[in-house]
Amino acid sequence: MIHYQVRCSEGHEFDGWFKDSQAFDRQAKRGLVECPVCGGVEVRRALMAPALPRGHAAPPVPVPVPVAPEGQREGQKIEQKPKETPMAVAGKAMPDQMRALLQRMRAEIEKNCDYVGPAFAEEARRIHRGESERRGIYGEASPEQADALSDEGIQVARIPWVERADG
Ligand SMILES: [Zn+2]
Repeated sequence: MIHYQVRCSEGHEFDGWFKDSQAFDRQAKRGLVECPVCGGVEVRRALMAPALPRGHAAPPVPVPVPVAPEGQREGQKIEQKPKETPMAVAGKAMPDQMRALLQRMRAEIEKNCDYVGPAFAEEARRIHRGESERRGIYGEASPEQADALSDEGIQVARIPWVERADG
């Protein structure tokens, strides 16, 4: 059974229970759905507002992250905005889609790579030299350590580490 708010051509609204939406259409077409107020059979389904609990706060709206500076138009003054670092962009205003992508990436890394913690740079070098088992690893490294590794021809990726999807 499905519940519909029904509205007649006079604007009276009433409740109706139907087997399914096709049943409503069939019965309405055949004049079987009658307005209890005026008896009119010219009825249609009223638009239903989503049932939100009262007093429920609206969900937070993701704030769009500026990707590129807006194009400058001639004769138009451009406000100087403070430069945002990638870390600032990756704050709470991160769009859901991006967060979900990074969460999937994190899950993949955690599934397929060994966590070596602060020993990351050291372990990356050992793998590079063949002293350690060749495998994917992840851990922490300072920007200086990451730069040094890349100077030595060891490719590392810096990944924004978001909280897990499951908390
Ligand atoms: Zn009516």
